[in-house]
Amino acid sequence: MKSQDIRSKFLSFFEEKKHSIVPSAPMVLKDDPTLMFVNSGMAPFKEYFLGNAEPKNTRLTDSQKCLRVSGKHNDLEEVGYDTYHHTLFEMLGNWSFGDYFKKEAIAWAWELLVDVYKIDKDILYVTVFEGSDDDDNLEMDTEAYDIWKQYISEDRILKGNKKDNFWEMGEQGPCGPCSEIHVDIRSAEEKAKVDGKSLVNMDHPQVVEIWNLVFMQYNRKANGTLENLPNKHIDTGMGFERLCMVLQNVQSNYDTDVFTPLIREIETITDKDYGKEEKVDVAIRVISDHVRAVAFSIADGQLPSNTGAGYVIRRILRRAVRYGFTFLDKKEPFIYRLVDVLSKKMGDAFPEIKAQKQLIENVIKEEEASFLRTLDQGLAILDRIVANATDKQVSGSKVFELKDTYGFPEDLTDLILREKGFSYNKGEFNKRLKEQQGRGREASELKSDDWTVLIEDEEQEFIGYDQLEAKVKITKYRKVVSKKDGELYQLVFNLTPFYAEGGGQVGDKGYIASSNGNVFYIVDTKKENNVIIHITKELPGDVNQVFDATVDAKQRYRTECNHTATHLLHQALREVLGDHVEQKGSAVHSKYLRFDFSHFSKLTVEELRDVENFVNARIDGKLPLQENRNVSMDKALEEGAMALFGEKYGDAVRTIRFGQSIELCGGTHVKNTADIWHFKIVSEGAVAAGVRRIEAITNDAVKDFYFENNRAYFEMKDLLNNAKEPVKALQNLQSENTELKKQIESLLKDKAKNIISDLKNEISEVNGIQFLAKKIDLDAAGIKDACFNLGQNQTNIFLLFATEQNGKALLSCYISKELVAEKGLNAGTVVRELGKHIQGGGGGQPFFATAGGKNPGGIELALKESENYIK
Ligand code: ATP
Ligand code: MG
Repeated sequence: MKSQDIRSKFLSFFEEKKHSIVPSAPMVLKDDPTLMFVNSGMAPFKEYFLGNAEPKNTRLTDSQKCLRVSGKHNDLEEVGYDTYHHTLFEMLGNWSFGDYFKKEAIAWAWELLVDVYKIDKDILYVTVFEGSDDDDNLEMDTEAYDIWKQYISEDRILKGNKKDNFWEMGEQGPCGPCSEIHVDIRSAEEKAKVDGKSLVNMDHPQVVEIWNLVFMQYNRKANGTLENLPNKHIDTGMGFERLCMVLQNVQSNYDTDVFTPLIREIETITDKDYGKEEKVDVAIRVISDHVRAVAFSIADGQLPSNTGAGYVIRRILRRAVRYGFTFLDKKEPFIYRLVDVLSKKMGDAFPEIKAQKQLIENVIKEEEASFLRTLDQGLAILDRIVANATDKQVSGSKVFELKDTYGFPEDLTDLILREKGFSYNKGEFNKRLKEQQGRGREASELKSDDWTVLIEDEEQEFIGYDQLEAKVKITKYRKVVSKKDGELYQLVFNLTPFYAEGGGQVGDKGYIASSNGNVFYIVDTKKENNVIIHITKELPGDVNQVFDATVDAKQRYRTECNHTATHLLHQALREVLGDHVEQKGSAVHSKYLRFDFSHFSKLTVEELRDVENFVNARIDGKLPLQENRNVSMDKALEEGAMALFGEKYGDAVRTIRFGQSIELCGGTHVKNTADIWHFKIVSEGAVAAGVRRIEAITNDAVKDFYFENNRAYFEMKDLLNNAKEPVKALQNLQSENTELKKQIESLLKDKAKNIISDLKNEISEVNGIQFLAKKIDLDAAGIKDACFNLGQNQTNIFLLFATEQNGKALLSCYISKELVAEKGLNAGTVVRELGKHIQGGGGGQPFFATAGGKNPGGIELALKESENYIK
């Protein structure tokens, strides 16, 4: 069965069981501080398990893109070396939110595997949770055991410990016991030798877990204890690539049709064969895996970068480049060439890949090229380190710096050093690395207490589209501590006018006031798993009262001007540059807006002017806000609203329209475009290959901008004696300046010539040696010229010149080479010794050396003593 069919069979099976099929959520999480990427099928549904939101159906099914490269679930180092762990993989899931539980989940899993996919039940094992006698003190899951007994013989039901059979997404959050389903796909011969049972959960490449049925019933709190969730849920996750391996009768995920097209392409490009040599195989697996992870991330809007999620993506791509560089001898970009194959293979199930193929290729190619340059540079530095080494050991600090400053990977350094018969101090390297990681961790570490709940089960209401003030009650609060921000409090209200950071728009600021007039500032508003959180530096004394909440209206208004202008800018760019322009990121602040978009070349002055004019025409057009808070996604798309890749949308969406601009948007906007007053682009540049960034300002910021420019203009005009045409006046000054510089240069040259010919006459013979010591009025370069000029064709000359410039003294000594050899004289020694008089030091070569010092008063003495050297 083809992988496409395997996927759709899964979804349609559960659709028949009354599940709604939902698309995969984007991989990069936006409002969950505990998790960077979706690492399991349940992550996008966390808000449903926690009861913060309601799904459209209590039964859902999907194939979710997952990435396990950071945090609690991190498989990165395994990838390539084994045949069944990936960075990016698809997790097929069926979900019950307070609907069915263990009985149905187990029955349907069995039906699908055995009856539909026709997997021989004699290759299956299942596990159930054996209980734990630690602090959680959990009982064995006898309920699941008894259900499984009806389908599979008891000697194939294994009891598993907490590590394998109690599923937790992270340090906190929903969790519960689980039952895994494993397959044993070894040959009959192998099976006769070793019992499959003993290999379950033992990291055997052909005895692997394919499906995990999680019976979600607890929430792990920050203090480590478990509480019961309000409802019981089912969360299942089956590894799609592993299922394909079983159903396609192969022994490795990489031998399924999910990967073979990529592997064939790598073979063609690199002229290597898969399956001949282990090192090469590992590299090919790494690259075929990583290109998927990187391509899907870019499609979801996460470009490689220097920080956070972007940095994780950059590291994945660099890992792939490194394997290609080292084991496949690829010294130029090639991974981007796999995107075409990937898009053909996955584009139907994941249209974001197909739609953004060109951008993905460009970004990967540019990243590859830049990292290859880094590798080149690192290799050169490494060569130098090796050349200068006194023994066969390189210091760990040097290797660390190579990694830290130049991004040159340690394992590559290790490999190269070993090839040259060198080693390095690994202990020292690790020590430096630990210190650095410790610093990073401390700065970003966030400790949060559990919530103190004041009002149970209160649904939060957002009223900030219509109101900036309200009477509010705190429903729960908690303290969070981080090195960066210190101690802060997070408050949740029953209703709130505060807009939480999201959709690129900053969170509102403002304050709440208690009945006795005490004011507590809200320094930021954020959203976490769909709950709006207000951040304060101080916890109000009496939390159980009604507060007057007020949003900072001025900041909100300025932010709204920028948000509406962002929509108009988006429209303008598509109009002026073309339909290929897609939003790749946006940041809407009160002071400015930033908009990233796909486009392949720098915008010309004319294009920028057209874009500005387009937006300003719509501001002048006084277009009213047309808001629709509750429209079906389909209807919105029909009306022409554009959905962004990488955004998670519900079934009902909000649309914002100003004239012909219509967007899906949860942000806040001005009532009329005229409110924006004016729009001005302040910068345009590149953020990545094929992604441009525009920064712009509106309203008050534009007034300030023009005011500042105007002030500078009049100041300049003033300096130009109120010239009628200041630009012309400035040009005149500039050309006059250039002319004068030229004249000075030639005058200085003439002067030097004169001085030199004068000096020639002053040279006297002392002790058979041509000698001159004198203070002259030339700069360092002029003196050097003079020395070499006078020394030309002379075999026994000794010159010492001194000059004084800007309160500093300079001594220059010239001794002809023959004299150096004969008499053992050394200009370096001369200037060092005489330099003492001018309180300075210096050096150079035996025939020419200079010394600078800060005491011109010592020049006379230095000149006088110079004669001693030849006497
Ligand atoms: P394993 O022990 O094999 O690493 P797991 O216990 O981490 O698996 P779960 O967290 O239960 O796996 O995830 C559910 C399913 O997702 C697994 O049964 C497996 O089929 C699949 N899966 C997990 N991790 C990966 C991965 N890195 N690559 C591919 N598939 C995976
Ligand atoms: Mg795992």
